[in-house]
Amino acid sequence: MFDLVIAGGTIVDGTGRAGYRGDVGVSGEVIQAIGDLSRSEAKRCIDATGKVVSPGFIDTHTHSEGALLVDPQHANGIRQGITTEFLGIDGMSYAPLSSYNFKTYRHWLGGLLGDPPEDLDMRSVTAFRSHYHRKVAVNTAYFVPHATIRLQALGFHDAPLRGDALEMAKRMVRDGLEQGAIGFTTGGRYYPGPWGDTDEIAELCTAVREAGKVYMCEPRSLQIASRAFGKHGVSEGMEAARRSGAKLHFAHYRTAPETAGRIDTIMAPIEAARTPEHDITFDIYPYPTGSSIAISYLPDDAQEGGPQEILRRLKDPAERRKIADVIDAREEPRLSAIVFSYMPHAPELEGTRLRDLAAKRGRSRGEVLCELLLEQNLKVGYLGEPPEDQAVWAQLGRDFMQLLARPDYMVCSDITPAGNHPHPRCFGAFPRFLGRLRREVGTLSLEAMVHRMTDRPARRFGLTGRGRIEKGYFADLVVFDEATVNDTATYHEPKQFPIGIPYVVVNGAVAVDDERCTGVFAGQAVP
Ligand SMILES: [Zn+2]
Repeated sequence: MFDLVIAGGTIVDGTGRAGYRGDVGVSGEVIQAIGDLSRSEAKRCIDATGKVVSPGFIDTHTHSEGALLVDPQHANGIRQGITTEFLGIDGMSYAPLSSYNFKTYRHWLGGLLGDPPEDLDMRSVTAFRSHYHRKVAVNTAYFVPHATIRLQALGFHDAPLRGDALEMAKRMVRDGLEQGAIGFTTGGRYYPGPWGDTDEIAELCTAVREAGKVYMCEPRSLQIASRAFGKHGVSEGMEAARRSGAKLHFAHYRTAPETAGRIDTIMAPIEAARTPEHDITFDIYPYPTGSSIAISYLPDDAQEGGPQEILRRLKDPAERRKIADVIDAREEPRLSAIVFSYMPHAPELEGTRLRDLAAKRGRSRGEVLCELLLEQNLKVGYLGEPPEDQAVWAQLGRDFMQLLARPDYMVCSDITPAGNHPHPRCFGAFPRFLGRLRREVGTLSLEAMVHRMTDRPARRFGLTGRGRIEKGYFADLVVFDEATVNDTATYHEPKQFPIGIPYVVVNGAVAVDDERCTGVFAGQAVP
């Protein structure tokens, strides 16, 4: 007797091989049998006739750690078919931090990660994982984040990690990896991370190489590029991997409106620095622009000391003026096209463009950004306005599919869930690839695409027993309709669930039942 049988579907098993007709039998948390199970008994049977049954999607890049602690149902993730989310991405998250440093970083990151309880134990990766294990709807896997251990080793200060502080930081990376973290991350814009340099990152990556795990790099762009090897974020990642020998993974590496159609251009710095020893993979989400937090726009010296010092500077009219001038003087094209996604104390402004608000208040963009950070206690999330030109959208769609066709690519959402006007990727990234882009652009079979979403990341990041429909594997499963699956979330109406994904199973438990979340929190801290 099985606990669950998913009957009559086309099994696309994650390995990339051709789909085939069959039933999937689940006992407890694992897949017990695959084949013709029509004569077996089951406590529950899901009819998947005419639908595809695939492994649950593994999302290699999300920022759900804060939201999951407040809303363990996490409908925007699980309804996409995502059964495992990677946390600790872009070099910033909550552990390992002392309780004082956790409160500090929770504050600085509030515009992105929201407001989880402030009294949680985040002193170790073990403690972090315990907050999610069998307590939330999705499986979670954690990376040791560079800025976080920098904060813990050195405080919120602009100083190099050297000597004892570097040794301490390295020990934190080692301990975290021993406690189940699957890699180490750096980010481009989340202080105190950008104060680091390539030397310290390369040194920390030696601990990653020793553990056989992966260094995931979100290359820096604007923030103190002078500290990066070759004065470039990509060169920095390449060099840290070369020196340490660690496996390297570039986060959401894709063309953007200004580079549409020029995949060779974005790949050039990687190809130029690549040695035979480099082992490099990538991930991608299918949207032209991204989402982040306004606090990261503040100049380098305004960040010194952390949130309380930043607030003190912003309250001082002369200092605020100086900060605003620096922001206004920057050649930062993206600043002219940001839309606010999250403002906890002024939700009516969510969905407003910075340039419209600046016009209304009669102030410069830098001044308005400073005022808002002050008014919102530093919690201001934004997303990049998408291009209006449909030809650019279409070109980017072709680029994303061309990149995903590479065997070194995987899929991510980069979920940034805070606020009423989040980026549409929070609700639509996976179904957008699976539905719209696969049907409109073609070039990639369903089996190959599912592979990039399941077995590929599971193998790359060492998630044992996940990512395939195979006997003995964990029963993380998705049932979707190949013909209708699609995203419905848009930049204007972002909080819309996808269609064509009726069932999602996590560790053998039905998490989405006929498109309804069940309130079953079977997610595990993996691997
Ligand atoms: Zn991110």
